[in-house]
Amino acid sequence: MWKLERASVYVDLRITLPTYSRFYDDLNGTTSNSRKAQQLCNLIEQQDPDKLIKLTLDFPSSSNEYIPFLNTEVRIDDEGKIHSMLFRKPQKKPLTLHYNSHHTTRTKIATVESMYKTAEVVSSDYNNQRHSSKMVDTLLLNNGYPNRVIEAIKDKRKRQRKRHKTQTSDNTAILKLPYINEATSRKFRDAVKHSGLPVKIVEKPGRRLKDLLTDSRPLDKAKCTNKNCRTCESLSPSLDNGDCMSRNTIYKITCTLDNCMETYGGETYRPLYHRFDEHYRSAANPTAKSYVDKPLAKHYRDKHPKYNGNPKLKLEIVDKGSSLIDRKIKEAKFLVHNKPSLNDKSELNNLTQFLVP
Ligand SMILES: [Zn+2]
Ligand SMILES: [Zn+2]
Repeated sequence: MWKLERASVYVDLRITLPTYSRFYDDLNGTTSNSRKAQQLCNLIEQQDPDKLIKLTLDFPSSSNEYIPFLNTEVRIDDEGKIHSMLFRKPQKKPLTLHYNSHHTTRTKIATVESMYKTAEVVSSDYNNQRHSSKMVDTLLLNNGYPNRVIEAIKDKRKRQRKRHKTQTSDNTAILKLPYINEATSRKFRDAVKHSGLPVKIVEKPGRRLKDLLTDSRPLDKAKCTNKNCRTCESLSPSLDNGDCMSRNTIYKITCTLDNCMETYGGETYRPLYHRFDEHYRSAANPTAKSYVDKPLAKHYRDKHPKYNGNPKLKLEIVDKGSSLIDRKIKEAKFLVHNKPSLNDKSELNNLTQFLVP
């Protein structure tokens, strides 16, 4: 569409448009009469080399008539004033998130609230607002929402508008959790409330059959091409398709020198080999100034002071995360349950108090 517009709407000076906008194939513009509007349509169509694009024109026959654009209908009165309200295509099925669908009550409330908000925002005055709001009422009733629920949500909106407060501050962390059922969600929210942590829970739909059966980007996965890859050599396959290029991992390193078997656990967003290389280098140069405080440097200094060959490290991916907070939680779980000997003890104690045993 942009190619067609570029050579017509935006260059042809025969038509000067006060406004012009488009959403995909829905075009909207202001002209003083329908002849000019039709002319504009023709100019756009002419740019199509295959002559297959046909635009249909909606032009008001009088200044009382509303013309739809996306979810809004608009009319310009004789004085040039713009009136607008919510619009739904008559042929569009009256369907929205059903009251009985498998989502949290919170998700449903949020959806309904945003529908009323849209109805309000797109309406130009009080009467049109009422019209728009009634459309939402009808749609919701059609989708199983009881009247009392609709009224309760509307009341809540009114009260909120009065208070005008924002709920999340800059320090709030978003915790995304899969939606299981209402009771589980409540438990999560209670736990967060009790912890006093600035965390906001957002529920995402659970895993669907589609997610299990399809892989939308099978070719995107990076493969290690390094023939002498230190990370791949050290990595014992512990998780499916876990390799040195894996991102978002929770990993465990075991020192295997002389059957030492001391362990270290960590997490990283970066490709695993980045992080593992750092650990490896610190173990290989335990006395280097820049590695003094590193856990594996410390270990090789204290436990294997006479050894000066290559460090012997076994690497395992113990879990994968989907976000920073998800990784941190999984790492904490791993650390608390496995108590790797090379991790900082105070860090471990700190974590324990936040985890449900
Ligand atoms: Zn590799
Ligand atoms: Zn060791």
